[in-house]
Amino acid sequence: MSARPLLELENLSKHFPVRGGAFASRNRAVKAVDGIDLSIAPGETLGLVGESGCGKTTLGRLIVRLLEPSGGRILFAGDDITRCGGEKLRQLRRSIQIVFQDPYASLNPRKTVASIIGEPLVIHAMGDGGWRRRRVDELLALVGLRPEHRDRFPNEFSGGQRQRIGIARALALEPKLIVCDEPVSALDVSIRAQIINLLDDLQDEFGLTYLFISHDLAVVEHVSDRIAVMYLGRIVELAPAEELWDRPLHPYTQALLAASPIPDPAIEQREIVIDGNVPSPIDPPAGCHFHPRCPHATEICRRDPAPMLGEAGSGHLVRCWHAEKIGN
Ligand code: ADP
Ligand code: MG
Repeated sequence: MSARPLLELENLSKHFPVRGGAFASRNRAVKAVDGIDLSIAPGETLGLVGESGCGKTTLGRLIVRLLEPSGGRILFAGDDITRCGGEKLRQLRRSIQIVFQDPYASLNPRKTVASIIGEPLVIHAMGDGGWRRRRVDELLALVGLRPEHRDRFPNEFSGGQRQRIGIARALALEPKLIVCDEPVSALDVSIRAQIINLLDDLQDEFGLTYLFISHDLAVVEHVSDRIAVMYLGRIVELAPAEELWDRPLHPYTQALLAASPIPDPAIEQREIVIDGNVPSPIDPPAGCHFHPRCPHATEICRRDPAPMLGEAGSGHLVRCWHAEKIGN
């Protein structure tokens, strides 16, 4: 890994106040993101995996500054961007882009493909009309669409093609980092591989850095250099992708792995050990958030949150009091 990470998150949090209803007077909050430390190296794909509702989208939106953090810091290429605004934020939008989960909802149905993809170029006043036209054609080609697609509307395309349009829009300003928020989750299984391969090719061509979010560990394992496992607003395990797949140490990661389908039908499905639902992030369990669902939980797990620990130099960190015992 190169010396300076492209992105660094330090104790990053997002708490949504809970207004009205029974909790009105009690000043409670949804701790969607609750003290995240993470860094991504230039050119790396960091996978972020966890069940629905654990805070993945919120984390992605904090990074692209669509949401204001409640606490902590975000550094981009060493520069503190946590609360930047105005011209600095405008410039930052060129460097950090997002591909949204739902290609049906994220494209304006009343705009042509050319105006959707060209919009960032207009907003950032890049080139003249002719240059922008050529750039849109270039972007269409990069994502595997044809020039004649430029004047069509999103509803004339399949889900996979729409996601290609979303990717072209994200690429328009030549970003360095792209947050891919479940980019294939809304797509048919048969076309997921095409979109994943496209993202992979674009990364090679442009040296892109990805935060790749998915609830599906098998997808994340396939695309990532390293994987971060998220549970109720916190990272509970972080390791190189293969290492995490072969030697998961957190009971939650082990449960996710057991629950994820094995692509080869010849291999017997691992038993699903995960029990119960994700508890509410409004009132997360004390101690280790996972303890009510964990087969290994003891007194300390119910009382104290575990620190993120790992063997020196291994790059494998885990937030579990019993990781040593469980891993062996
Ligand atoms: P994921 O992407 O992992 O499914 P999200 O980041 O979408 O998770 O949501 C994490 C938690 O934050 C959920 O409990 C969700 O209901 C809550 N949440 C997300 N956005 C908001 C919001 N704007 N206001 C209040 N709560 C929110
Ligand atoms: Mg999400």
